[in-house]
Amino acid sequence: MPDPLDALYRDVLMDHYHNPRGRKKIEEPDVHNEGKNPACGDEIEMELKINGDTIEHIHVGCTGCAISVSSGSMLADIVEGKSLPEVRRIAGIVKAMLVGDQLPDDVNLGDLKALEGVRKFPVRVKCALLSWTTLVDSLQVYENGSHAQVSTTE
Ligand code: ZN
Repeated sequence: MPDPLDALYRDVLMDHYHNPRGRKKIEEPDVHNEGKNPACGDEIEMELKINGDTIEHIHVGCTGCAISVSSGSMLADIVEGKSLPEVRRIAGIVKAMLVGDQLPDDVNLGDLKALEGVRKFPVRVKCALLSWTTLVDSLQVYENGSHAQVSTTE
């Protein structure tokens, strides 16, 4: 029997897949990072422009399956303008949602809710997580880089 909610979520996913957000490249990004999901063949290029502790701009160039591309597009939509701690919190929530962990009661998933059904397909969870793990890794790279700069000026 067709499930109307599933159809709705499929539309959300397909909209992100066909019109991915965050495609515009960033001039002089603070972080350039790449990620791969060899199990599926998904690849992602990510660039961040960070001001203080806020992500001012993000570029997500993802190629691969519909789930990886649409997840990366949602990520670009959501994290721009947010602080690094907030972005880390959201990445943690996405991961919890995808592996089936308990979510905080007050959380509003928005379009991300469309990815919830992916957890029924463990092979595809990696596709949905690719952009988020690359983002967390990018923040680590950024912070390590700044620490190194700080220590050389001392
Ligand atoms: Zn994939």
